Amino acid sequence: MFNNNFGEDESMALIGYAHDMAPRLCLWTHNGRSCCTIVLGRDFPAHLQNVHGVPGTTSRVQCHWSNCYKELRGDTFVRHVQEIHLKESWPCPRCLMLFSRRSVMNAHRANCTG
Ligand SMILES: [Zn+2]
Ligand SMILES: [Zn+2]
Ligand SMILES: [Zn+2]
Repeated sequence: MFNNNFGEDESMALIGYAHDMAPRLCLWTHNGRSCCTIVLGRDFPAHLQNVHGVPGTTSRVQCHWSNCYKELRGDTFVRHVQEIHLKESWPCPRCLMLFSRRSVMNAHRANCTG
């Protein structure tokens, strides 16, 4: 999966770039209709804020992605969408185990002997 010419940090930078540049289908549902806009990963925070009115603050907001309806804080919302709905994943560059959060993967990687 990883080219051996790349170091671990370079691999991480490439995965981050891949997440940023990946086109994603927005399934935010309003009045029974899905948004269905294709948005690049890096543009998702702005899309959620500008088009769907998700605040970037601690105010509570309900997720309207498909049938989710979960209530979350605005400032943790983008992470929720990335982890749960876009299913972004971070493989450990040593053992290739998959993690949904970069921070959790980095913590694992520090002790990974794989
Ligand atoms: Zn949308
Ligand atoms: Zn949700
Ligand atoms: Zn590992």
